[in-house]
Amino acid sequence: MQLDYNSLLLALGVSASCLAVTLVGSWFSRRPETFLLTCSAGLAPIVAGIFSYGAYVDKPRLTLAILTFVLFFIGFSTIWAAGYQFRMRRFSMARVLLGSLTGIAASVPAMLAGYDGLAFMGDNIVITVLLVLTAREYWLSRQEAPTPLYGITALYALTAISFALCAGVLIWDGKLVLGHAPDNWAEDVSLAICIAGMTGIGALSLALHQWRQAAHHRLEAITDPLTGLLNRRALFDLYGQRSFGPLMAVIVFDIDRFKSVNDQHGHATGDLVLKLFAQELSTGLRAYDTVARLGGEEFALVLDNALPGRAEQIAERVRAAFAAREVTVDGKPFACTVSAGIALGTAEGVGFDSVLSAADKALYAAKRNGRNRVEVAVYLHAVSPDVSRTAS
Ligand code: GH3
Ligand code: MG
Ligand code: MG
Repeated sequence: MQLDYNSLLLALGVSASCLAVTLVGSWFSRRPETFLLTCSAGLAPIVAGIFSYGAYVDKPRLTLAILTFVLFFIGFSTIWAAGYQFRMRRFSMARVLLGSLTGIAASVPAMLAGYDGLAFMGDNIVITVLLVLTAREYWLSRQEAPTPLYGITALYALTAISFALCAGVLIWDGKLVLGHAPDNWAEDVSLAICIAGMTGIGALSLALHQWRQAAHHRLEAITDPLTGLLNRRALFDLYGQRSFGPLMAVIVFDIDRFKSVNDQHGHATGDLVLKLFAQELSTGLRAYDTVARLGGEEFALVLDNALPGRAEQIAERVRAAFAAREVTVDGKPFACTVSAGIALGTAEGVGFDSVLSAADKALYAAKRNGRNRVEVAVYLHAVSPDVSRTAS
C-alpha cells in the first residue's frame, strides 16, 4: 500500500505541535529547567518547516524550499542547544547560530543556483550532523538518569541515521537537479522514523524532567540551604537506626556567643560566620565522616570508622582553625570561637540518640568551663554518660 506522504507530514506536524505545547506546560511546573522551553522553541520552527515542506512537495517553488531549509536549520540547531542546555545548564546561542548558518550555507546557495538535488543533499547532511550532536549531549549526560537518557540518545541517533539515509540515496542517485521534492524509499522511511522518534523523545524528555525534579526535591529535603551541609533530618535518616560501636563517634559544635555576633554585626554577618564554619568543618573529611547542621549555630560531625583519639584530634583542629580565622566586616576584623562536645560509641553498641545527647552534655560542659574548648563524654555505665574534662 502506498502511504500518502502529505498526510504523514501533516501527522508529524500536528504531533510536533502537541509536543511543543506539552513541553511548555511542564516547564511551567519547574521554571529553572529551561531546556524544555528551548526544546519547544526548537519544535516551533520545525513544525512551520514541516508545513512549508508539505507545500513544497505539492508545488516546488524556490521560496518554499528556502523557507523550509531556514526553518529546519533554526529548529534542529535549537534542539541541539536544548541538549547542551540539559547537560551544562546554560543556553548556548552560539550553537543555534552555528548550526543555522552552516545549514543555510550548505543548501541555500545551491538552491538559488538551480541545483536543488545538491541543496537537499546538503540539507540532509547538516540535519544528520545536528542530530548526532544532539544525541551526543544526552549520551554525555547519561550518568544522571541512565534509562531515559539511553532512550533519548538512541532515538536521536536513529533519527540521524534516517536523515543520513536520505542524504545517501540522493548522493547515490547523483542527480544535482531534481525539479521536485526528493521522492524515494529513504524519504518514506525517514518520515516514519521521525514520527516514532518524535513521540518517543517527547515522552522521554518529560520523564527526564520528572526525574530531575524528583532528584531536586530529594536533595532539597536533606540539605541545609545556608551552608549546603546535610540537615538534621538527613543525619537522623543516616544514623537514627545505627548502633554506635567503639570506632564511631559524634562531635557536636556550637559557636560561642553567636547571639552577640548577630547583635553587633548584623544577621548577614552571622550567616557568613555560619558558612565559614561549615567550610572549616568540611575541610579534610574522609569518606566515612558526615557533617550536618543540626540547626541554628549547632553542627555535628559523625565519624563512622575512627581510630581512638581521632575525634579529639579533629574537634581540636576545627576549634583552633576557626578561632584563628578572622572575619572582616566593613574593614574591621573579628574572630569567633566554637565549643565542642564528643561522645564515642561503646563496645556493646549504643543508639544515635544516646550518643548525641552525651555529646550535647559534653558540649554544655565545654560552655560551662569557659568556651573555645573541647570536652569528651565518658560513659560510666553503658547508657548513662558522664562528662569529664580534657585539656583544650
Ligand atoms: P553560647 O556561647 O552559649 O552558645 O551563646 P550563643 O549566643 O551562641 O547561644 P544562643 O543559643 O543563645 O544563641 C544562638 C543564636 O543563633 C540565636 C539566634 O538568633 C542565632 N541564629 C540561629 N540561627 C541563625 C541563622 O541561621 N543565622 C543567623 N545569623 N543567626 C542565627
Ligand atoms: Mg552558641
Ligand atoms: Mg546554640
